[in-house]
Amino acid sequence: MPDSISRALLTWYDDHKRILPWRDISNPYATWVSETMLQQTRVETVLSYYKRFLTVFPTVEALAAAEEAEVLKLWEGLGYYSRARNLHAGARQVVEEFGGVIPHTTEELSKIKGIGPYTAGAIASIAYGVPVPAVDGNVIRVVSRLRGIRENVGVPSVRRELEKAAAELVPGDRPGDFNQALMDLGSGVCVPGTPDCAACPLREMCCAFEEGDPEELPQLPRKTPPKPLDYDVCLIVQDGRVLMRQRTETMLNGLWVYPMVEGHHSVKGLPAQVKKATGLTVTAIQDAGEARHVFTHQIWNMHLYIMQADAGAARTGWQFVTLDEMHALTIPTAMKAAKACAEKLLGRA
Ligand code: SF4
Repeated sequence: MPDSISRALLTWYDDHKRILPWRDISNPYATWVSETMLQQTRVETVLSYYKRFLTVFPTVEALAAAEEAEVLKLWEGLGYYSRARNLHAGARQVVEEFGGVIPHTTEELSKIKGIGPYTAGAIASIAYGVPVPAVDGNVIRVVSRLRGIRENVGVPSVRRELEKAAAELVPGDRPGDFNQALMDLGSGVCVPGTPDCAACPLREMCCAFEEGDPEELPQLPRKTPPKPLDYDVCLIVQDGRVLMRQRTETMLNGLWVYPMVEGHHSVKGLPAQVKKATGLTVTAIQDAGEARHVFTHQIWNMHLYIMQADAGAARTGWQFVTLDEMHALTIPTAMKAAKACAEKLLGRA
């Protein structure tokens, strides 16, 4: 049965595969970059980032030699910045510990910073033709339906069963194509909710199709909803420059933000909060609207304010930047509305 599944899927893939710049190449570094970018991110979004990244850093050595700020700037807007930091650290590790050669085996690949079991399987199978699975959310969905795995896939023993089932499906011939075919099937046919079974090449071999309940699978662990957090974001201007700082917190580490005061405050109450956060005395506060950004675990409900800083120095860590300097910094998408507001302010300063 695994043989007929792989044959049917590969035949379908040959006719239906998406033409993507990271396909049909034999370059483990490019596979690593593309698979890292594709985590939690849509193919359409990744396309331009991937091309730009490989133009600036065409080899693992070029990436290893780069400054982290350069890597983050290229990643700006793609989100989940720890992926970029890990990719950069991993490239340095490959140069230092593996002589610049990306390893072939999943065991060695898994020793590299940022390469988890999925990425290790993807690199080994796609770039080196090693018959190992690459189990991501799409593959979990397809395999649980195909094999009728009805228990919660968040339970470790069920997850192991699913990984074993996925491994058994991978053919010795064209394992990379097979894994990519599964990914394509999961993202275009065997989609979350109601799959398009009529268009599926595996219909005759699928347990969930036979049982008539594919939309019930997979059984996923219940997600904790993201926590809503309120912030006042303060655009503090002085002599044509705006106040920013580089984050040192784990979340958005290394990215630049405007002052954020926890909670929502009145225009009257805000100066005391700003003083506490930055050491600056502010005046002429104006309401600049609202913004919202949804992360996986948090929702930032932001109220934006524009204000002037009186003379005096901001506390260590804060820095007034010009418009040009601001454009050279990596600013997270969560600050998009605040950045647009700062651009308007500095543009006319
Ligand atoms: Fe998914 Fe339907 Fe194909 Fe089964 S038949 S693998 S449920 S699309």
